[in-house]
Amino acid sequence: MIYADNAATTRISDSVFEKMLPFLREQYGNASSQYSLGTKAKRAIELARQQVAIAICAEPSEITFTSGGSEANSWVLRCISETHHNEQMHIITSAIEHHSVLNACRALELSGVEVTFLPVDNAGRVSVDGVKAAIKPNTKLVSIMLANNEIGTVQPIAEIGTFLKGKGILLHTDAVQAVGHIPVNVNDLQVDFLTASAHKFNGAKGTGILYKRSGLKLSPLVFGGEQERGLRAGTENVAGIVAAGYAIEESVGEMAETAKRLSIMIEATVTRIKEKIPSVRVNGDAECRLPGTVNLGFDGVLGESLMHLLDLKDVCVSTSSACNSGKDEPSHVLLALGLTEQQAKSAIRISYGKYNAINETNTIVDVICDAYVKIINNKKCPTSGVSSLTDKVKN
Ligand SMILES: *Cc1c(COP(=O)(O)O)cnc(C)c1O
Repeated sequence: MIYADNAATTRISDSVFEKMLPFLREQYGNASSQYSLGTKAKRAIELARQQVAIAICAEPSEITFTSGGSEANSWVLRCISETHHNEQMHIITSAIEHHSVLNACRALELSGVEVTFLPVDNAGRVSVDGVKAAIKPNTKLVSIMLANNEIGTVQPIAEIGTFLKGKGILLHTDAVQAVGHIPVNVNDLQVDFLTASAHKFNGAKGTGILYKRSGLKLSPLVFGGEQERGLRAGTENVAGIVAAGYAIEESVGEMAETAKRLSIMIEATVTRIKEKIPSVRVNGDAECRLPGTVNLGFDGVLGESLMHLLDLKDVCVSTSSACNSGKDEPSHVLLALGLTEQQAKSAIRISYGKYNAINETNTIVDVICDAYVKIINNKKCPTSGVSSLTDKVKN
């Protein structure tokens, strides 16, 4: 099998798995318990918090563990607006956010919050001037993702952060696709809140990270005990948190090398597909993008058909994002780039990760091109099914 859908989720790193395993078996204590089985769990969580903090240049006290990226995103958006419940507040986001941000914003709209969904250019970039122009006296929060999950475009968050500094407007970034893959430094970015998710950087599923700049208020997400400084009650997912700590340390340590390899693989993939299918379209930004992700449009075929044919050959890619699949709607991200519905539906996303080998690119290219030719040929002779039937009858 070739797994090329690392933007949807990644395989847990072998060494990270070894580190987390004891916390599911021998070291299964509740981190709130006072005997050593519990205090050891507590210490493991605090080590992970430190590992995460170091990876994004934050302080451990600024890190809260959640159940995932979606939870962290929803938390920031929901609780910021709760804090300002007496005012008519305004939020700025982009049209290409992950659904955990977009749908949280839509829910806020229903409760009276004003939301601006900024457009993007045809490479998927939000313009800093666009953010500036959208600011209103009652703007309290700007939430724009660092890297897009469907096309890999990286946004100018540091520039936006610089502009917002001192204006009393908070900046949140969904960095789920970025952390562990490209350098992320909360001070360079000048963000107040940042979201990450362990299963996107070879950690385990079910552990997210919320960075909150020290001194900022955020109301608790879950009420109960004093876990996570009373912000998110409930017995901690110790093994998942331990995995998140080691996974972020490992992926940041390997980042330069992995990024170089993945971008070579992406370039080789695109170049070879272009040789065979010159009409292929690369959706997204050629310069400011994630090293391992590319979104390709194949006019005249459905991305979904390609994906299923690839699946038959044990190659995993996705149409748009995992969260959208199953619905027949074209990707909101691709539509925001200005593509037609048909063009948007012709796309597949290839996302390589650290467990992909360079030689897998050749197989992927061959399988994609074969599938493409098969679909196009079927279209050209719609009676081919009938003729093969008559052939059978003749025989
Ligand atoms: C995967 C993803 C999320 C959601 O993270 P989960 O941990 O799966 O909830 C949020 N934002 C982006 C950009 C993502 O790619």
